[in-house]
Amino acid sequence: MEDSYKHRGMRKSLVKIIRSKGITDERVIEAIGRVPRHFFFDNALIAHAYQDKAFPIGEGQTISQPFTVAFQSEKLEVKPNDKVLEVGTGSGYQACILLELGAKVYTIEYNENLYERTRKFLPKMGYKPYFFQGDGSKGLPAKAPFDKIIVTAGAPSVPKSLIEQLKIGGVLIIPVGDSESQKMLRITKQGEKKIKKESFDYFSFVPLLGEQGWKK
Ligand code: SAM
Repeated sequence: MEDSYKHRGMRKSLVKIIRSKGITDERVIEAIGRVPRHFFFDNALIAHAYQDKAFPIGEGQTISQPFTVAFQSEKLEVKPNDKVLEVGTGSGYQACILLELGAKVYTIEYNENLYERTRKFLPKMGYKPYFFQGDGSKGLPAKAPFDKIIVTAGAPSVPKSLIEQLKIGGVLIIPVGDSESQKMLRITKQGEKKIKKESFDYFSFVPLLGEQGWKK
């Protein structure tokens, strides 16, 4: 795994694109600038690594578009030492960005093959979130509560369990909609029974499966 001058140059161009699309949080921009996204790609496909687009990672799943990763990370307002749950580990790229932001990351993946692959691969890059396999639409009750929860798959509605597993003052970012497009929602838990809901742009994610997601 080599991170050459050329790769760093390509990453700088990607950072410019992300900025031009409206990302302003310098910590997020620096994190995108640090994580070698080409490590997630086969050698023959490295040209795709620093384009601002999602890419297939096998098992019918995708590594999210860098802008989407930056957008969700910015809206999550991650602070160093925040305890963050990521639902949908996938390639692990988003988990790397969260770790770069100083978070303690718990990441859960439904697909067993992807879970195994990413659990073995990410530590080789030096990134060490806590990995879990299972239905993250129900959250991760054994490790709750969390300061922040990020869902990286499109949900039909906001899973109740995820709100329950937030600390008071905690934030959940989740795309909600149909199979074509989903509106990015940010839910802030202001009290045991009080939430604030904000909506942002539309995105297109693979579906969140499971008990509180889409049924298979
Ligand atoms: N965050 C990933 C990255 O950085 O590459 C991208 C994730 S991909 C867009 C969505 C992931 O969510 C897929 O890997 C999919 O298997 C996973 N997923 C879908 N439903 C899930 C569930 N109920 N619990 C956990 N993971 C789920």
